[in-house]
Amino acid sequence: MIRFENVTQRYRGTPQPALDGVDFEVERGEFVFLVGASGSGKSSCLSLITREITPSDGRVLVLGRDTRTLSDRRTPYFRRNIGTVYQDFRLLEKKTVSQNIAYALRVIGRSRAFIKQSVPEVLERVGLDGKGKRLPSELSGGERQRVAIARAIVNGPQVVLADEPTGNLDPTTSVEIMRLLEQINADGTTVVMATHEAGFVDKMRRRVIELRDGRLVRDEVGGAYGDTSALATLRPEVVRGASAQEAFTAATELRRDVEEGRVEPVTSVHPLPEQKSEPAPVAPISPIPVEVEEVGMADRLGIAGSDDEVGPTS
Ligand code: ADP
Ligand code: MG
Repeated sequence: MIRFENVTQRYRGTPQPALDGVDFEVERGEFVFLVGASGSGKSSCLSLITREITPSDGRVLVLGRDTRTLSDRRTPYFRRNIGTVYQDFRLLEKKTVSQNIAYALRVIGRSRAFIKQSVPEVLERVGLDGKGKRLPSELSGGERQRVAIARAIVNGPQVVLADEPTGNLDPTTSVEIMRLLEQINADGTTVVMATHEAGFVDKMRRRVIELRDGRLVRDEVGGAYGDTSALATLRPEVVRGASAQEAFTAATELRRDVEEGRVEPVTSVHPLPEQKSEPAPVAPISPIPVEVEEVGMADRLGIAGSDDEVGPTS
């Protein structure tokens, strides 16, 4: 579903590459943590997946496409299969919760009927039932991130990429957002989450890809797919900074379990059974009135295409 082949990413004016010979593959249905210190290259990986950038060297294959040979014109259509969630939420502040989500559907030409039905459904799915009429400023940080997640999943993407989605949230709220992403994954969506907060990562016992100075230094599967037993023991951290301790404790416990034979060390990927791989059908694009305020957001989300093109990429 996502494959990095010996990927090197150099930015202009920087001597050291941001990514250096990175190889990994993410299978359909996986939940993957992308971890590493600030500056290690996590966001660059996500930008390569969304084709905001293309690799200086090597290949990035996403949903069967080589991002380097994909045209700029087709990129918005390609991105409709990818939901994105960011640390800073990126909501339209003057729009209500429902309008924020409806907007993501309007720019890709979804019908009024589809929007009317799917917005309340997705709000319920993310736990924001009844909050559709609120403005983002009337929500807590956790609720704002739920809106962003609702917007990311409302069109049924195959992949959700989350870049430090808990970075602006307190520990308790972070755990709730983690659980929501786990739920979305359990419903069949591939999730890749970048975070530098290693706190609960090991405890979740999901696959962890670790970067250090642009190099891949760890890629391991910490738990079986569909195994949510780790969630029960996932406790909110009392204070920020406790995350390091949590990670250490979890890693120690796991190592002891493995050493004493209670847990099999898992070193290979066990993909879910193959699912149908066609992208969701996208309605023909009709010219729709888009307000000036919204245009910038469409650019930032990168999902709007030109009016003359129809349907998903092929
Ligand atoms: P992370 O998300 O792990 O913090 P990034 O991918 O943002 O890491 O950054 C990796 C490295 O690439 C850092 O050294 C950063 O300064 C550099 N970098 C990221 N984006 C750019 C850019 N647009 N131009 C130049 N350097 C960049
Ligand atoms: Mg980053």
